[in-house]
Amino acid sequence: MAAAPVASSGMELLGLTRQQLCARLAERGLPAYRGRQIFRALHQRLVQTLDAVHELPKAARAGLAEEADLSPLRLDQVFEAADGTRRYLFSVRGGHAIETVWIPDGERVTLCLSSQAGCPMMCAFCATATLGLQRNLTAGEIVAQVLSVLRDAGRRTGQPRPAALNLVLMGMGEPLLNYDHVLQALRILADPEGLHIVPRRVTLSTVGIVPKIAALGREPGRPNLAVSLTAPTDELRARLMPVSLTYPLATLRQACLDFPRRSGERITFEYVLLDGVNDGEAEARALLQWLAPLRAREAAKVNLIPHNPAPGIPFRPSPPERIARFQARLRAKGLPTYIRRPRGRDIFAACGMLAATSSPSA
Ligand code: SF4
Repeated sequence: MAAAPVASSGMELLGLTRQQLCARLAERGLPAYRGRQIFRALHQRLVQTLDAVHELPKAARAGLAEEADLSPLRLDQVFEAADGTRRYLFSVRGGHAIETVWIPDGERVTLCLSSQAGCPMMCAFCATATLGLQRNLTAGEIVAQVLSVLRDAGRRTGQPRPAALNLVLMGMGEPLLNYDHVLQALRILADPEGLHIVPRRVTLSTVGIVPKIAALGREPGRPNLAVSLTAPTDELRARLMPVSLTYPLATLRQACLDFPRRSGERITFEYVLLDGVNDGEAEARALLQWLAPLRAREAAKVNLIPHNPAPGIPFRPSPPERIARFQARLRAKGLPTYIRRPRGRDIFAACGMLAATSSPSA
């Protein structure tokens, strides 16, 4: 049976900053404090309807409800992995599927958000690439992923929100190709009268859209930067990540060198380890060499990501001893290098596996 379409588009309240919301209400003759009341109700109390904003007079609620859209997402399915990771499958307008992943780690939770439905970047090791780009998400759709998952967590745990909440833009899509909506969403999520998720708790991961890295560096409330690298030479990278044909490694490195860092901040370089492809001694040496100018400024750290196998993706994960050797080679030269523990593999929630799979396993 076909699912009902996501509600029609009206004024997308979740995509407005508090200031914009107040301005929109002013156009309707409502005072600014009403905008703040609605903003707080949506982002702190996580209400889903204007009817639940009891502070608003009934007439104002009814008038706004006619033109406002508070539900840009429809939650279709939730999968829970043995390690507690949860994958949320949502529909957005147009019928596209997107995913959000809840990754608990003790008191801390990381939410992995999607910025596009599908992705145009064609990374050879990533299941999302097989979908192609369907469309950019709106700011409201990005914000709604956080609100919806927190609402679910609140129902399950009775806690309004985790003690420490981090956001990573590492789900479906290349966030720097949806720059304005992503930055707008982060401004909304950072508002102290809302969820107040400050920029240093947010990491944006890009394959290396060089002009947008420069633009991001100029943003006042910018997130942390992660670069998905995965190959230390243009020849290999062009095979694994076609973005390298447009932005070769030399220009990518220059953009990273020019990126204004906060005190003590390092750019994270993500490196997906593919058995026999990019995990040998030669690649470790080439990676150290490519990173040398950044290492000299203590500007880089490396996250090694064991490849997560997905249907139709022709790579194998590197064996653990090969991963450990690769890490040791980088560490021996003083480069901070960490191995990311795979999370939620059994529900297709791990890095590189998001392809809107509607069953928990193949
Ligand atoms: S790794 Fe990221 S940028 Fe590359 S295809 Fe997958 S989702 Fe897109």
